[in-house]
Amino acid sequence: MQKSRSSTTGFTETGSIDSKTQREVERLRFAPQTEAEFQTYFVQRSLTRARWATAIYLALVAVVTPINMRGTMTPLADSVLQPIYLLRLGVACPALVVILAATVIPELHRHYQWIASTAVIVTGMAVMFISGLAAAAGMPQFQMGDVLVIVYATLFLGLLFRAVMVVAAALLLGFVGVGWYLGVSNEHLIFASSVIFATTLMSALSALRMERLLRANFIENRLLNDIAERDGLSGLYNRRMFDNLTNRLWLQAQRNQEPLQIILVDIDHFKAYNDLYGHQAGDNCIRRVAAIIARAAKRPFDFCARYGGEEFALVLYAPSGTDATALPEQIRRETMAMNIPHTHSDAGGILTVSIGSATAEPDTKRSLAGLIQTADEALYRAKQLGRNRVLHVDSAESNPTGAFKVFAIK
Ligand code: GH3
Ligand code: MG
Ligand code: MG
Repeated sequence: MQKSRSSTTGFTETGSIDSKTQREVERLRFAPQTEAEFQTYFVQRSLTRARWATAIYLALVAVVTPINMRGTMTPLADSVLQPIYLLRLGVACPALVVILAATVIPELHRHYQWIASTAVIVTGMAVMFISGLAAAAGMPQFQMGDVLVIVYATLFLGLLFRAVMVVAAALLLGFVGVGWYLGVSNEHLIFASSVIFATTLMSALSALRMERLLRANFIENRLLNDIAERDGLSGLYNRRMFDNLTNRLWLQAQRNQEPLQIILVDIDHFKAYNDLYGHQAGDNCIRRVAAIIARAAKRPFDFCARYGGEEFALVLYAPSGTDATALPEQIRRETMAMNIPHTHSDAGGILTVSIGSATAEPDTKRSLAGLIQTADEALYRAKQLGRNRVLHVDSAESNPTGAFKVFAIK
C-alpha cells in the first residue's frame, strides 16, 4: 500500500504533461521506481500481441516447411536443404517456442525482455543463415524471411526500444557477416542489406514512436490516478481514499484477528496561525506536518491521509510493540522540533499538534466508525486538556459492553 508522495506533479496548470515529464518520455526513461512500474505495464500491454505474432510465425514455419520438402518450388540440393531444415526446426523454432512460453508463463514475465531479445537474436541468426545458404545456392527469394524476422522482432515482440536497437544491430551485423561467410555475391549482398537496413530503420522508428506513446499514456493515467486519490497540497491520500483504505484494512484486520490503530493529528490554533502569518505560510505548515506523518507510516500496510483541513490520519495495521503512544509521541515531538514560530499559541510560542489515538481488535461488538469516533474523542480531550499532547485509547482497557476507557498520557 502506498503511503505518501510529494504533492501531485507531472501536470502543468493547463492539464498537459509538464516539461520534465515530457523530457522523460522523449528520452525513454523515467525515475527508477516509475521506470520499473512502466516496464511491467509495457510488457503486460505487449504480451498478447507478442503471443499471437509468435504463434503465427510458428504456424508459417509449419506450412512452409512441407512445401520446401516436396521440393517442387525449391530446386535446392539436399546438401543445402538439410542444413536449412536443421536450422529452421532445430534452432529457429525452439527459440520461437521459448518466446511463446515467456509470453504465457507468468513467472517469466519479469524476465521477458532479455528472454525475448536473446531468443529472437538466435531465431534471426538462424533465419539469416538459411537465407544466406539459399542465396549462395541461387535462391534469393528466401530473403523474405529476413525481412519478416526483423519486422517481427522490432514491432511485434514487445521489446523496449533499447532492446530493439540491440536486436536490430545484432541482426544487421549478423546478416552481413553470414553473407560474407557463405560467399554470397557482393551485388546481392549490397542489394539485400540495403533492403534489410531500410526495413529495420522504418520499423525501429515505429517502435520508438509506439514506446513514446505508451510512456505518455502510462504517465497520464498515473497522474490522473494521483489526482483522484491524493490531496494536492500535502501529497497524502485524500479523505475518500482514507475511507476506502480503512474499510479494507478493517476487514483484513477482522479476518486476521489483528488490531488496528487510528491516529488523528490536528494542528493547534491553526486559525490563529493563518490570521497572523497568512494562508501561504499556513499551507507550508500543512506540507511540513504532513511530511512528518508520512515518514511515520513505514510498514507496508500503514498509510496516512489528509483527513480534513489541518487534520491528518495515520492508520497502523497490527501495530507492533507495546507502547502505542510511541509513534504519535514521535510525531508530536518532531512537529515541535521544527520550531515554527506561532506567537499566538499557548504552547511555548511554536507550532504544535494535538493527537488522539485509538486501537481496537475488530470484532462483532465494534465498528470502524466507533474506532474512528474514539480516536476523535481522544483528540477532543487532548485539545481540552491544553493541546500539544497525545491521548490514546486502548481496546484492551475496554469494558465488556465494548465502550473504551480513556486515559491521558500527558
Ligand atoms: P484547534 O487548536 O482547536 O485545533 O484550533 P484551530 O484554530 O486549529 O481549529 P479550527 O478548526 O478553528 O481552525 C482550523 C483552521 O485551519 C481554519 C482554516 O483557516 C485552516 N485551514 C484549513 N485548511 C487549510 C488549508 O488548506 N490551508 C491553510 N493555510 N489553512 C487551512
Ligand atoms: Mg486545529
Ligand atoms: Mg481541526
